[in-house]
Amino acid sequence: MGPEKKVLVVEDELAIVRFLRTSLQENGFEVLEAGTGRMALELAATKKPEAILLDLGLPDRDGLEVLRRLREWSSAPVIILSARGQEGDKIAALDAGADDYLTKPFGVAELMARLRVALRHAERTGRKQEPIYEHEGLKVDLTIRRVSLRKKEIHLSPLQYELLAVLVRNAGRVVSHKQLIKEVWKESGDATPESVRIFVHQLRHKIEPDPVRPKHLKTEPGVGYRLEAESGDY
Ligand code: CA
Repeated sequence: MGPEKKVLVVEDELAIVRFLRTSLQENGFEVLEAGTGRMALELAATKKPEAILLDLGLPDRDGLEVLRRLREWSSAPVIILSARGQEGDKIAALDAGADDYLTKPFGVAELMARLRVALRHAERTGRKQEPIYEHEGLKVDLTIRRVSLRKKEIHLSPLQYELLAVLVRNAGRVVSHKQLIKEVWKESGDATPESVRIFVHQLRHKIEPDPVRPKHLKTEPGVGYRLEAESGDY
């Protein structure tokens, strides 16, 4: 085991802080705590945490503003802690550079899964990306643009493949409609969340054993999509 990774918890609700502190420590993380945005920015700069859990509703300033300030100089993964019904805020946070979000209340297993994915993704950035994705029988090899399900090759249209490739490069993380449109359709055309929905529908019919109950390509209601990276339910 190397040195413990530091996680900065930015949250003003004491019960949630306690829950996060216990869960993170039990899983081998060192925990830093900030109850305000001002303190969060200060600790992020001085202690250089490997990841940040950020509540959007802070007493002194908007969590989104904290995120934007952080992103001016920090690339540490940020996972947003949001309340139910804050879909708009979640999207704004993802677009402002957050890596993922958790909707309260959430469990330890879900927290740890999201955190592991965010940390892995941060480690990969700047290094060579893993070119092969495998999840419960679905295999995507980005080096030879080959997709297979249970060893049977699947043929995708160029746009279907591009959509899947963007999700593979972000495996385990939520990707917003806006990000998908930007990366898949580039500047060309006038794609909308509705076009994304249609392509996801087509893609599911090709890569999901049961397209109605997808186990790879999950919908994040009102926000975007996530390609599962770990097996089993959270
Ligand atoms: Ca709060």
